[in-house]
Amino acid sequence: MKSSAIVGINWGDEGKGRMVDLLTEDYDVVVRFQGGGNAGHTVINEKGKFALHLLPSGIFRSGVVNVLGNGVALDPENLYNEIQEVVSKGVSITPDNLKISDRASVLIPWHRDLDCLEEQRLADKKYGSTKQGIAPFYSDKYQKKTILAGELFHPAELKQHLLDIMEWKNLTLTKVYGAEPYTEAKLDEWLNNACEKIKPFVCDTGLFLKEAQDSKKNILFEAQLGSLRDLDYGIYPYTTSSNTTAAYAPIGSGLPSAKITDVIGVVKAYSTCVGEGPFVCEMFGDEAEELRKAGNEYGAKTGRPRRVGPLDIVATRYGVEVQAATDIALTKMDVLSYMDKIPVCTQYELNGKKIDRFPFPVTLKDCKPVIEYLPGWKCDISKVRKFSKLPKEARDYVLYIEKAIGCKIKYVSVGAAREEIIIR
Ligand code: GDP
Ligand code: MG
Repeated sequence: MKSSAIVGINWGDEGKGRMVDLLTEDYDVVVRFQGGGNAGHTVINEKGKFALHLLPSGIFRSGVVNVLGNGVALDPENLYNEIQEVVSKGVSITPDNLKISDRASVLIPWHRDLDCLEEQRLADKKYGSTKQGIAPFYSDKYQKKTILAGELFHPAELKQHLLDIMEWKNLTLTKVYGAEPYTEAKLDEWLNNACEKIKPFVCDTGLFLKEAQDSKKNILFEAQLGSLRDLDYGIYPYTTSSNTTAAYAPIGSGLPSAKITDVIGVVKAYSTCVGEGPFVCEMFGDEAEELRKAGNEYGAKTGRPRRVGPLDIVATRYGVEVQAATDIALTKMDVLSYMDKIPVCTQYELNGKKIDRFPFPVTLKDCKPVIEYLPGWKCDISKVRKFSKLPKEARDYVLYIEKAIGCKIKYVSVGAAREEIIIR
């Protein structure tokens, strides 16, 4: 029996969706335990190319049950649209292979409105929100001012609960932001459409997971974003509003008794970061543009150009520690094939001193990257399936990173498609 987590080690977009899609062959259940529709997990397999937002990346494997745990930001409208999109490409999604926790808190349309209104108010001080309502949603969850998915089965109580929250929320919308208030009719429309459509998937997933655990099923926990975006351990306040770390998986999935046996940390062979915030190893100019193009670094959800840089050993080592990773999947190695020499950020320089430890977030803006170069391999490696068949320079790059971050690199991904992988 395996209880494994697949998590991001860096700023997100490391290729978690790609790894979940590959590894679900060995699992019976895949659970998303945090985050919301702001994720973009790209999966390319025989069914096509998909950008998954809230759906777990195990949705393509027949026989795998996918669960949205209590820790996610459940947005009925977006989820239903996503289900329809995936179904339209011939993937079967039914209450048998998708189960939504009755304890998942529900993202209400005003959360998206508030996200946009707040980014507008912040103007040039904005955080670079994806405007999916995630921060207002999690704030309300912890203020106990939203509803649980299971309340959909108790319409009388639900209605009163929602009207009470609406009265409170309208104060913020109208008095703080000068926006239009919500009305009962508007909420009814949302309840009767989006919420009704996802209701057949809502059930006691805690019971389902407990039974899966009792019958020794293999369970995979899929995270969104990465260590550096974790609310508690990341680059606050440029983090997301939930815990992206494997330690949160038992809580957010609905299986608090889970003991995670393997943590597969996904690291990209170089760095990318979407949105605002400190990014010490950032590259600029032509060098950056070339890497961005080679790696096709544009957000799966927003299409925004991602900021790019060399692999950051300081941040990655910290990410490995925070995730308690047991194995690493190093993705997008093929992207570096054009480089004569490969830059790596080995240390930071802060106030004239070289440091190895990822520092307190406020000081990141004063850190300068220390860059060293490793020899490039300058040939196509995307067809290689055995580690020993990689050019020496590519093997050396992997071994160098492995040593520097202190964790075994078990998977080397050399392409976006399911089979483009080297397993060591
Ligand atoms: P996630 O958010 O961690 O699931 O990652 P994203 O899907 O947002 O970003 C990873 C991108 O890299 C996607 O476009 C993938 O299709 C692509 N990708 C993943 N692994 C590889 C790889 O080894 N090589 C190449 N060239 N692309 C990859
Ligand atoms: Mg992504």
